[in-house]
Amino acid sequence: MTTGVISQIPFVDLAAQHAPIAAELEAIFRASITKTDFILGKSVSQFEEAFATYCDAPYAIGIDNGTAALEMLLRAYDIGPGDEVITVANTFIATVLAISSVGATPVLVDIDPVSYNMDPAKLEAAITERTRGIVAVHLYGQPADMDPILEIGRKHNLLVMEDAAQAHGAYYKGKRCGALGDGAAFSFYPAKNLGACGDGGALVVPTAELAERIKMLRNYGQREKYHHVTLGFNHRLDTLQAGILSVKLRHLDGWNAARAHHAHHYNRLLADMPGIVAPTEMDYAQAVWHLYVVRVADRDGLRAYLQEQHIGTGIHYPIPCHLQEAYTYLGYPRGSFPVTEAYADQIVSLPMYAEMTDDMVEYVVEHVHRFISQ
Ligand SMILES: *Cc1c(COP(=O)(O)O)cnc(C)c1O
Repeated sequence: MTTGVISQIPFVDLAAQHAPIAAELEAIFRASITKTDFILGKSVSQFEEAFATYCDAPYAIGIDNGTAALEMLLRAYDIGPGDEVITVANTFIATVLAISSVGATPVLVDIDPVSYNMDPAKLEAAITERTRGIVAVHLYGQPADMDPILEIGRKHNLLVMEDAAQAHGAYYKGKRCGALGDGAAFSFYPAKNLGACGDGGALVVPTAELAERIKMLRNYGQREKYHHVTLGFNHRLDTLQAGILSVKLRHLDGWNAARAHHAHHYNRLLADMPGIVAPTEMDYAQAVWHLYVVRVADRDGLRAYLQEQHIGTGIHYPIPCHLQEAYTYLGYPRGSFPVTEAYADQIVSLPMYAEMTDDMVEYVVEHVHRFISQ
């Protein structure tokens, strides 16, 4: 598909995603204004059923964002002060914020240098008698290596949860992310693989008891109106967003397939280029390529060069969680997680979205090549 002369490539392009489904989205907006069922309307339970089915999981619960979803999962398991929860140093800050929000202590481990995800070999050394659970993150849309993580979790009687905020539709050994452990948090932040027109999130959980508990927690702790049986919160998914997400969910597999097509195209074009490390799709993974992340020595130089060519890029993430000012209290000095720290200075995310064309991918690679060989 050629669309004429390329003059710019944004990092993401949600307008291009919305254009072909604009009429459907507008119908959702219009209906919400006349129905006025803004809070926990029928579209919420309809989306929850559709999303659970999509994840091959028994229950999904709509939450108002991904950070709150992970926090509600930890609260549903009564994780709090005095408890430790292990996650990975290379993640978006929200994973760690959810753990500290409930009063638990985040304990971090380094990543595997090939997958960029939690290194299961580092896990056991991080377990103490206070550890209650592990949050595995499927970063950039590639599943973490769940089997060894689950095995270690089971051996030490720990909960194994998933942060699937970047992995809607990804498969680990043929099983959908979100249905691999003791509950999974998803984000529908607009730029995620499945994104709302605003904030949104969901939990996918394995048991009816857990689903019921989370439904109470998100809705003031009430079992029925004005009967508050537990200390609750207000973390409901909007009816309007649920309606929009139901429309978009029907396109998700198609969009993910397009992302995979572009990622494999990038990988082929970059394979023999010296000075750049392309991502590796692990044998156990069918990734959904939320981000396409490469490594180069002069990362900042490459970004500036691509910027001049009107090619958008990002860094995910420039400062590892343990080196953020907010988490100095955790007491991890620089050098604690060498792979995460080294990669933070080399990673750059290239444009990646379903509506890209082959020409656009080739245009990006051509300019990357020009920078590297100059
Ligand atoms: C986006 C994201 C979150 C947080 O989701 P929000 O909806 O923005 O609160 C959590 N974890 C990861 C890995 C994410 O990418």
